[in-house]
Amino acid sequence: MRRRSFLAGLATVCPLGCRAARAAAPLRVVASFSILADLVRQVGGGAVAVESLVGPNGDVHVYEPRPKDLRTLIDAGLLVRNGLGLEGWMDRLTGAADFKGQVVVAAAMVTPRMMRDDGGLLATDPHAWQDPRNAILYVRAISDGLAAADPANAATYRDSAARYGARIAQADAWIQATLAPIPVNQRRIITTHDAFGYYAARYGIEFLSAEGVNTESEPSAKAIAALVRQIKREKVRAVFIENMTSPRIAQMLARETGAMLGGTVYSDALSAPDGPAATYLDLLHYNSKLFASAMAG
Ligand code: ZN
Repeated sequence: MRRRSFLAGLATVCPLGCRAARAAAPLRVVASFSILADLVRQVGGGAVAVESLVGPNGDVHVYEPRPKDLRTLIDAGLLVRNGLGLEGWMDRLTGAADFKGQVVVAAAMVTPRMMRDDGGLLATDPHAWQDPRNAILYVRAISDGLAAADPANAATYRDSAARYGARIAQADAWIQATLAPIPVNQRRIITTHDAFGYYAARYGIEFLSAEGVNTESEPSAKAIAALVRQIKREKVRAVFIENMTSPRIAQMLARETGAMLGGTVYSDALSAPDGPAATYLDLLHYNSKLFASAMAG
């Protein structure tokens, strides 16, 4: 009885919803992985408190939600996920948390890239953020979602999104200029899994990889042997380690083929805050510098 009257009291105290009443409290947003979390922070600034389910250097493909994630999600006003089949574990988690808040699918406005998976079937490539033009569409979707969940700050979100989108467009122009001098026959790179398809299409680089768009299964010995032959035949110069996967396959490919190890690139996750790719813009710059210097020889 006491509880009932307390709730009834709240309804009269906050006729517009209690978020509006306590305007100083940031909107709690959960992002599925670290790259999305950064995009939300750039748009939301101090008006949001963002948590990432999969942290820096984590592998979002094979993530296993923990009990802690249920509590994180229960408290959230907004969930931001990539979509395009990246977070296969998400529906189980939102179901278990009985999450009824708003959901932003960041890639909703992206034209997906289709590719053959290991079994030869057509699959959607989820790594759309590797083309900065797609990231600008992510930012727009995130800004719309924040504005809907927190209308009081809608104008702030739209302004930040426009400014940040312009910085992403600048990064895109910088990458084009940085890669422009590389001769066409040197534009080949090896990575562990097929995470750079959108980047490849945007900048005219061929990426070869031991694994498909997912990291769920180890590549077969046959696939590795075929890749070794291809690297030797096409004289590919550099093999890259990805921050969220084991370095073992890249190291083995370099050893077997004499290609150089080009370093660690950030494909599906940011670095730790003190690392070289702590933000999405840092990730674009850092990866592109490494790719450019390896291809230039
Ligand atoms: Zn991936």
